[in-house]
Amino acid sequence: MAEHSVGNEQAGWFDSTHGHNFLHHRLTPHPIPKENLMSRCLVLNASYEYLSISERWIDALSLVLSKKATSIEEYPEVVRSQRDEFRLPAVVVMNRYVKTRRKVRLWIVPTRKLVFSRDGFRCQYCGTGVSMKTGTRDHVQPLSRGGPDVLANVVTACRDCNGRKDDRTPDEAGMKLLSQPRSLTESEKIQCLLKTCRTKERDTWLECLTRIGVRLG
Ligand SMILES: [Zn+2]
Repeated sequence: MAEHSVGNEQAGWFDSTHGHNFLHHRLTPHPIPKENLMSRCLVLNASYEYLSISERWIDALSLVLSKKATSIEEYPEVVRSQRDEFRLPAVVVMNRYVKTRRKVRLWIVPTRKLVFSRDGFRCQYCGTGVSMKTGTRDHVQPLSRGGPDVLANVVTACRDCNGRKDDRTPDEAGMKLLSQPRSLTESEKIQCLLKTCRTKERDTWLECLTRIGVRLG
């Protein structure tokens, strides 16, 4: 999942240097339990689409304090400055729409993890169970023949079936697909995202996403 999350800096919309200075001037260095430091924040775009995951609470909090984002769900933990105390943001929504090209690719890149879990770790030609180690990805319309490298063109295949199919379409190889490759459903996207979360984050995010009816991706 980490490989797909849109990094704050990479997306070019978050000035981390400014954010940190801004906060460090205000927050006294209260000792914060390690667990709190690991509270990640789900960042939604102004359109309520998934934008990124903020790995550090200080990044998320500075988005809120600099009025770039609004916190719509918070963890119970608080951090204190001399005057104020802030609850750690769990889900924030950007106040202005952020354009990012990377967002579009988030859920279509056919990584082994996404393809195998969508297909229930079964070869989509013979039904044999595969593992992360033994499974392979098969481009239904072969890459060499212009097939796109997206989830909707990639299925799980055991090594035997992948070898047998070779650079052919299933029709040409006389092989039948148990199911057609497809993009992830909205609930699969959420499940996939939640699998990478710690329990505390998962419960908080899921509750919030359900409450506001957010579609991810
Ligand atoms: Zn097979």
